[in-house]
Amino acid sequence: MKGPSIAIIGAGLAGLTCGTALKGLVSSVRVFEKNIYPGGRISRFRVGEYEFNHGAQYFTVNNPLFWNIVSAWQTDGIVRSWDGWIVELQNGQVSNTDMATQRFVGQPRMQVIAENLASNCDLITSTTVGELEMQSAGGWRLFNDRGDYLGVFDIVIIATAGNQVAALCRDVPTISRLADKIDMTVCWAGMFAFEQKLDLPFDAANVLDSPLSWISHSQLTDQKPEFDCWLMHATPEWSQQYAASFRGRVMHSLLDAFWEATDLTPVKPVLSSVHCWKHALPINPIGEDSLFDETRAIGACGDWCTAPRIEGAVLSGFSMADRVMKYIHKKQSQKTVDH
Ligand SMILES: Cc1cc2nc3c(=O)[nH]c(=O)nc-3n(C[C@H](O)[C@H](O)[C@H](O)COP(=O)(O)OP(=O)(O)OC[C@H]3O[C@@H](n4cnc5c(N)ncnc54)[C@H](O)[C@@H]3O)c2cc1C
Repeated sequence: MKGPSIAIIGAGLAGLTCGTALKGLVSSVRVFEKNIYPGGRISRFRVGEYEFNHGAQYFTVNNPLFWNIVSAWQTDGIVRSWDGWIVELQNGQVSNTDMATQRFVGQPRMQVIAENLASNCDLITSTTVGELEMQSAGGWRLFNDRGDYLGVFDIVIIATAGNQVAALCRDVPTISRLADKIDMTVCWAGMFAFEQKLDLPFDAANVLDSPLSWISHSQLTDQKPEFDCWLMHATPEWSQQYAASFRGRVMHSLLDAFWEATDLTPVKPVLSSVHCWKHALPINPIGEDSLFDETRAIGACGDWCTAPRIEGAVLSGFSMADRVMKYIHKKQSQKTVDH
């Protein structure tokens, strides 16, 4: 098929949604991802033989377009509705939270949503795009973080976290000026497995008056329930304060906070780990679905454009694909007129 070639930087939900929507409409779409697998902030974390959803825990749906997408995912068995019992927890006291909201999870893990989208894309993992060079005749040359050449593309889409966008497109002020303003929260995630079942009646809790903001019983549907696994997220304030701390110190602090919040007698975990999300959630999204600079043929998308959640990332990726297609059609009709 004739048509422009497109490079997408970042295989999170925004980049993969954009790549999937463009598939078949352009000559090639190549997605570069620095991690060893796709997913970004919905990816899994392995501790021993156990896996945790250590980023996004579930998602909600508001937008009608996103409803259609989620319905298709449900039909394909990629996501399911989650009716876990979520409470509010304050110093061992449990109170009920709103149970009216419909929540969804990827099954068996959140990352499956990204893996499914990635199967539509030409995905190159373990590749950090380090530099973009605009060609005088149009198009972009891409290089990795060691300076190795990755190829030349007619159109480039940057689908990384907001503050990583600006570093890649300093010479594109229409994008870097806005991306530069994005502030992101930090989030320490703790993952623990216990030999015996903990005496906690709920599935997850929003935690108050604690270094923790969220705890969740973590049992992926394809794993044996031998151990009782719990995932915990620290508050943005606590995470920021301890962002540069040693992992062992953070691990102990999160576990202490867990026992205090649940008012349980501490027991030693059999498996434990922590991960610091240095770019967890955008605090001040720019309020545009996506950005595209037509004169340079470069765009940017992600939750930092729309809203700091899965729905925001997917809708931003869709908007990006739509803008790219409109740009391509415009170029093609200009060529026809010129002839
Ligand atoms: C702790 C936590 C809890 C959350 N909880 C929820 C929740 O409960 N519900 C909800 O809806 N949302 C939640 N979210 C938010 C949700 O996960 C994000 O909004 C969404 O996943 C963002 O997708 P994205 O594609 O915009 O960005 P990302 O997922 O960050 O994807 C960007 C990708 O770009 C890659 N990348 C970056 N730089 C480069 C480079 N130079 N070269 C190549 N690749 C690069 C990254 O590795 C990453 O894979 C949570 C997020 C976190 C961190």
